[in-house]
Amino acid sequence: MRVVDLRSDTVTSPTADMRRAMAGAEVGDDVYGEDPTVNALEELAASMVGKEAAVFLPSGTMANQAAVLTHTARGDEIIVEADAHIYWYEAGGVALLAGVQVWPLPGCRGVLDPETVKAAVRPANIHFPRTSLVCLENTHNRAGGAVWPLDRLDAVTGAAHAAGCAVHLDGARIFNAAIALGVPAARIADGCDSVMFCLSKGLGAPVGSILAGSRPWVVQARRARKVLGGAMRQAGVIAAAGLVALRDMVDRLAEDHMHARRLADALVGIPGITVRPDEVDTNMVMLATRRPAAEFCSALAARGVRTGFMDANRVRLVTHKDVSADDVDHATSVIAAVARGGRSP
Ligand SMILES: *Cc1c(COP(=O)(O)O)cnc(C)c1O
Repeated sequence: MRVVDLRSDTVTSPTADMRRAMAGAEVGDDVYGEDPTVNALEELAASMVGKEAAVFLPSGTMANQAAVLTHTARGDEIIVEADAHIYWYEAGGVALLAGVQVWPLPGCRGVLDPETVKAAVRPANIHFPRTSLVCLENTHNRAGGAVWPLDRLDAVTGAAHAAGCAVHLDGARIFNAAIALGVPAARIADGCDSVMFCLSKGLGAPVGSILAGSRPWVVQARRARKVLGGAMRQAGVIAAAGLVALRDMVDRLAEDHMHARRLADALVGIPGITVRPDEVDTNMVMLATRRPAAEFCSALAARGVRTGFMDANRVRLVTHKDVSADDVDHATSVIAAVARGGRSP
């Protein structure tokens, strides 16, 4: 059976170039700072997001956790958007590891309002926690790959800084946002004190994420990575794939965005599902399903189209380098057939 995997861009496998680079990577012990491939990756990554320095970590989750640990003290409060990855999908890590409490603010497709942020920062008062950090997410995962308008991003980072808070950007898919906006990723990260992004999603590397910021801040973040058990030894073997990802795989994200739009356009008007092509900013398509989403997903999986269950009636489709235009068309016809086909899978 033909399989099209639209669950996530994390399912991408390394390219032949990545495998060659990994096999031939020059390595050293990165805990001693002696892995030349890791050092090259960190330097390139920092420059691409316009920061002084960067540190390579095993996952985006660990990078976000290290960022929160580095920006906050125990008992602080952090502000996040209510659908943020940090709040939903990191197993309560910020409470467990950094010992902070979270104030989730309602956003509009993942985008916060500067006035709401300003109002949520606690004034100095012995009764209140100290608000030390605002976390933003761009593109926004649960909002379906939504991109922050730059003027809004600037307004929110400005409001956070004016209120005395640091800003961390969960930019797991920052290059998707950059391609969609037609600006360098550095422009997006500009007003943020730290930024995380994943090499292992649309960019196709098998493992790894980057956390970037000012040079002194990254020294601290490196210590947080050590505490979390994420300091690796001959990590050049995986960093080599990350270098290929940053050099060769950024521009082609535009193709994934085209495929997502093609998918959304083709699914409009099919009974049993609702799709909003105007809300497809990057490489994700959200379907609202009349049937329970879990049932809809398993009916699709039985026909070889793998999709992501989000909520009771919401399914996520993610395009990526291992999905061709032809795969998109095949998936479209399977989804249409299942949507029209009544209840039994
Ligand atoms: C995937 C993702 C992460 C975490 O990355 P992992 O490498 O899977 O731990 C963090 N934030 C967002 C927005 C993501 O989409």
